[in-house]
Amino acid sequence: MFVGHAAVALAAKKTAPEVSLGLLLAAAVWLDLVWPIFLLTGTERVRIDPGNTVFTPLDFTYYPWTHSLVMALAWSAAVAFVSGLTVQRPRSRLLLAALVFSHWVLDLIVHRPDLPLWPGASPKLGLGLWNSVPGTILVEGAMFVTGIWMYANDAFERQRWAVWILGTDRVLCGPLDQQLSGATTTGHAIAGIRCACRLAVAGLGLVGRPAPGYDTHTRWQSTLTSCTTGSATELYLNHRLRAG
Ligand SMILES: [Zn+2]
Repeated sequence: MFVGHAAVALAAKKTAPEVSLGLLLAAAVWLDLVWPIFLLTGTERVRIDPGNTVFTPLDFTYYPWTHSLVMALAWSAAVAFVSGLTVQRPRSRLLLAALVFSHWVLDLIVHRPDLPLWPGASPKLGLGLWNSVPGTILVEGAMFVTGIWMYANDAFERQRWAVWILGTDRVLCGPLDQQLSGATTTGHAIAGIRCACRLAVAGLGLVGRPAPGYDTHTRWQSTLTSCTTGSATELYLNHRLRAG
């Protein structure tokens, strides 16, 4: 899923106002954040297969350590445990764990049957919403608008813009994937826009005034995590994939 992951993180902010939006976003996309590391070390594999689904040419051939049901639960537990270093309330740590796990559930809705239940010989699941353009836009779009709506009332004034820009960045994820399999000029342009989006988010976060009840520490954390969400590894991964 693309913007849907951001949507659940945005919606979760109200439940745990003391946890930074950046941390919530990182939890919601955690499985995708660690995925490039497993790819680069050869532990997991992906293949470019134009038309694999209408939304992405990526064929997720082997990714049980990041995207199996069992490992999603294990990562959730690990994140709940490690987040104890900065997040005090057990309820908020549980929420972070739930966000990590939500990734698998949301991927289950959009992916082809390529999500294993456990590492090893396992059946693979996926409902394949990414085979439908209108279906995907409707579901992910509705989720994102709801997420923004739930978040907006509590958000910092300029951070609201940051969220929209970050949303643009996530929306461009799909077209960028498409470009991996073909003409690279547009691909580079889209990658450029996405980098600009992340820089803009960083900038807005630094100058944005926190609303009453939020401290500056939260704002910094939010800004930093929002823009580092996958950027460097993702660009490197794109380069590797393009190189074949
Ligand atoms: Zn994923």
